[in-house]
Amino acid sequence: MNSRLNINSIYRATEGEGHWLGSPQVFVRFQGCAIGCVNCDSKETWDFPLQGTLSMEQTLENVRREALGKIKRVSITGGDPLHPKNDGAVLALVKELKERRYWINIEAAGTRIVPEIFDLIDFISFDFKTPSTQVRCNEKLFMRLVEQYKGKFQIKAVIETREDFDAVLEFHEKNFPEGRDFPWYLTPSYNLGEEFPMKRFQEVIDWNEECGGLFRVVGQQHKWLYGPDKKQV
Ligand code: SF4
Repeated sequence: MNSRLNINSIYRATEGEGHWLGSPQVFVRFQGCAIGCVNCDSKETWDFPLQGTLSMEQTLENVRREALGKIKRVSITGGDPLHPKNDGAVLALVKELKERRYWINIEAAGTRIVPEIFDLIDFISFDFKTPSTQVRCNEKLFMRLVEQYKGKFQIKAVIETREDFDAVLEFHEKNFPEGRDFPWYLTPSYNLGEEFPMKRFQEVIDWNEECGGLFRVVGQQHKWLYGPDKKQV
């Protein structure tokens, strides 16, 4: 356990979005991301440190402390924990956490599948990048996830505009005309410095109803509670 990890922060919070909304967990946020979503709400995580910030021992001790000795759920997030500069450390961390019987989710940007990690963890939250991110959705990768990781993933798509919703709908109609058996969440965007976007939220709900309710519309509860700019909540 000699190598150091690019850790931005380790903190306890209640999951604020998607499938595990409301579940307390320890977030291990990795530093460094090269994906460049234009509407990213954590750009402070983009720079890669020149050297890792925490040892494995320090990382595990911080997880244990934040877990209050009782919470057995960890969410590995970023930045981009699956970037090649982070994935080796993430794999090592996953192995350590599994030995300690933690349930592990990873927040995956939807740009890479790392089988060594995906096979070991319990759940994968995989982004479908919509046009407002200005990051291209990798359709082949997405379909590979669907085929290989049945029963242990959710898809999340941030919806800022009607164009975003139409992109999700078009992809769904093309690839799952007979329906699908995995959860797909639409997250109406709530951007930094913004007032609560009531109109956008209601529109996404309406669009989903009009298409037959193919998706689940779930906002980001932590932003309602603490505002869109608050970190580590
Ligand atoms: S992948 Fe995540 S951290 Fe990276 S730019 Fe996109 S939203 Fe930001």
